[in-house]
Amino acid sequence: MSAILTLNAGSSSLKFAVYISDHEPQLLARGQVENLGPTARLILENDGEKVVRALGVADHAIALREIIASVTPVLAGRKVDGVGHRIVHGGVDFHAPEILTPQVIEKLSALVPLAPLHQPHNLAAVAAAQVAFPDAVQVACFDTAFHRDHPWVNDTFALPRRFYEEGVRRYGFHGLSYDFLTGDLARRFPELSGARLVIAHLGNGASICAVKDGRSVGSTMGFSALDGLPMGTRCGQIDPGVLLYLMDQKGLSAPEISTLLYKESGLKGLSGISSDMRTLEASEAPEAAQAIDYYVFRIRREIGAMTAVLGGIDALIFSGGIGENSVTVRGRVADGLDYLGITLDEGRNATSEIEIGAGPVRVFALPTDEERVIARAVQKQV
Ligand code: ADP
Repeated sequence: MSAILTLNAGSSSLKFAVYISDHEPQLLARGQVENLGPTARLILENDGEKVVRALGVADHAIALREIIASVTPVLAGRKVDGVGHRIVHGGVDFHAPEILTPQVIEKLSALVPLAPLHQPHNLAAVAAAQVAFPDAVQVACFDTAFHRDHPWVNDTFALPRRFYEEGVRRYGFHGLSYDFLTGDLARRFPELSGARLVIAHLGNGASICAVKDGRSVGSTMGFSALDGLPMGTRCGQIDPGVLLYLMDQKGLSAPEISTLLYKESGLKGLSGISSDMRTLEASEAPEAAQAIDYYVFRIRREIGAMTAVLGGIDALIFSGGIGENSVTVRGRVADGLDYLGITLDEGRNATSEIEIGAGPVRVFALPTDEERVIARAVQKQV
């Protein structure tokens, strides 16, 4: 049997997973090269074991070479005949995974101005994979695709129409995660297929999505991955007047504002301590507590907003590193939502069971698996 490789390229990491190609792809190994640059290191998880190896200087191409070298023994002679790529931006046109032909790559390159911090890295991984696996089918899986059919009122900003026409729209992201979670929930609990779901993906990046009949009808993320919830280092929703103030009165340039909003804000900026929820939960500093207060408040507020978008809520799903694991964040978010019929079973929440609700609205803590969504898309093409 042959194998499928999935790649998820960020600015400082290249995550990967290897599957045996099968009706339902079977995971063989996963890992990442992190700290791309002068101090890169490779992490490989296989058969319950985790191996970490320092690489020194590495860009995306070197990282991919090292990944291939490290998974070759795991592949045991299987040929990689499909490579799936997480592509952050599919623009207006891509509603579903797409084979990466030269024409598609050209269209995706034209979207770089819409996602300058992510799209170039995604495309760098595509180029490296085409060199490494010239005979394999390369498939693009888009973070925006799950949201593409959402209603126009969720797609637009109230700017002059010409901006909408040129692509200044609310795209929404984390689509691969929402795709996985929606499918996984329906598989585990068939009675919830077609239900009104509010899904909170709470990782280093974070967003909330309203899902009806298996499709997105609203998302807290919009044009960029900055909007909506506060995140590890990103600001979340902000009054655009603040940006005008920073430019006019503080003389900040566009790159300075970009660094501020993407890298220095969110939990990190508010606490002045860390972007990492575990560190903040363990801290006794009042600033750490305040950062969590704000985080929880905004999640609760957006769950209310997404419930309004759906006209009600049948199930709430927590996912991502924080959603799956933080008993405190889940408990505190739910604390203010009993008016919606959301209450937690404290015991089940404390042990992070899959189903943790105790009220009429079903509540879940579910692991996400974006790589699996990519592998399934590739499987359809090989
Ligand atoms: P990414 O978006 O980079 O994939 P993750 O989904 O792994 O990130 O989420 C990382 C976040 O999850 C960090 O803030 C981390 O502190 C948090 N996290 C992981 N485990 C726990 C835990 N047991 N309790 C609280 N927070 C946790």
